[in-house]
Amino acid sequence: SNNRHDKDKGVNIQVLLRCRPLSDDERRSNTPVVISCNEHRKEVSAIQSIANKQIDRTFVFDRVFGLSSEQKDLFNLAISPIVNEVLEGYNCTIFAYGQTGTGKTYTMEGGGKKTKNGEFPSDAGVIPRAVRQIFDILETQNAEYSMKVTFLELYNEELTDLLAPDESKFLDDKTKKPIALMEDGKGGVFVRGLEEEIVTSAGEIYKILEKGSSKRRTAETLLSKQSSRSHSIFSITIHIKECTPEGEEMIKCGKLNLVDLAGSENISRSGAREGRAREAGEINKSLLTLGRVINALVEHSGHVPYSLHATLVCLRDSKLTRLLRDSLGGKTKTCIIATISPSIHCLEETLSTLDYAHRAK
Ligand code: ADP
Ligand code: MG
Repeated sequence: SNNRHDKDKGVNIQVLLRCRPLSDDERRSNTPVVISCNEHRKEVSAIQSIANKQIDRTFVFDRVFGLSSEQKDLFNLAISPIVNEVLEGYNCTIFAYGQTGTGKTYTMEGGGKKTKNGEFPSDAGVIPRAVRQIFDILETQNAEYSMKVTFLELYNEELTDLLAPDESKFLDDKTKKPIALMEDGKGGVFVRGLEEEIVTSAGEIYKILEKGSSKRRTAETLLSKQSSRSHSIFSITIHIKECTPEGEEMIKCGKLNLVDLAGSENISRSGAREGRAREAGEINKSLLTLGRVINALVEHSGHVPYSLHATLVCLRDSKLTRLLRDSLGGKTKTCIIATISPSIHCLEETLSTLDYAHRAK
């Protein structure tokens, strides 16, 4: 509807589409491109003709970022306004959704170029840019504030703390005391035993991301799993001290969740390989639940909170939904970045992503 972006109505979901460029390998092997993006019209088309069969489908999004879009454009146009909402005390969640290899992690974290003398590289993703914007704004406002981050992985409905200093927490199954999702008795949830890292400058964010990512890699090797089958959730919480005109002190709290979802190919292929059936089922469940939550959000746009809360209580079987519960209703904003590949070889998966993201609107 027209007022989806009307802030005063509390309307709060947007869906972006990003198509990555062809990789060097794909270019060398002359992989045909079947996706065309019209950023101005906010349209994406999938076009392919084989013999007498023609696929030609067009989808509209809130924003479209084409093959040559840059990290800074996506951030400045689509994410920066959300970060401002967080500073106003909103809880916001940004999801990256798409097939493995389409740029979810690139979009969220970055492409892995090294920082030079404290400057962010051009391929820095949403997370470092969001952190930098928060510091920039709060510093110019001369505000008293604190920022904490957490970094979690959710795999097979099991949580891993990616910032935990104690390796044995996830390396040694026998002594490990799992972190656990708990109800706080006020309708919210919290994670017991979760490591919170206090961030005091934007530059530190890379160390934290690297720590989390290397832990993710180690856990992957040891448990022979792949990040394509787990969700990661990076959360930034900010407390800002404010004074009312009457001179009363107030603490404003905002939260930004950045969710790198499991590869979407895991949900569309129900005929997953033998030993992976349960796992595919779990991913399936949490992504589908999330889809329903988002649909509920859209349907109740305007005043989401309590009907949605009821929906969420019914859906509490999924940890992903539970973790994000306080960030999906009430004073919140949600953004989904759907990522796709332009290659002909991914077309089937691309169409399913376009369908899902489109439906989520
Ligand atoms: P995912 O997390 O969805 O599995 P990745 O973020 O790991 O995918 O991306 C796969 C590869 O494509 C990586 O080598 C990444 O650097 C590259 N890539 C992804 N998106 C872009 C982009 N927009 N521009 C340039 N390279 C990209
Ligand atoms: Mg990834």
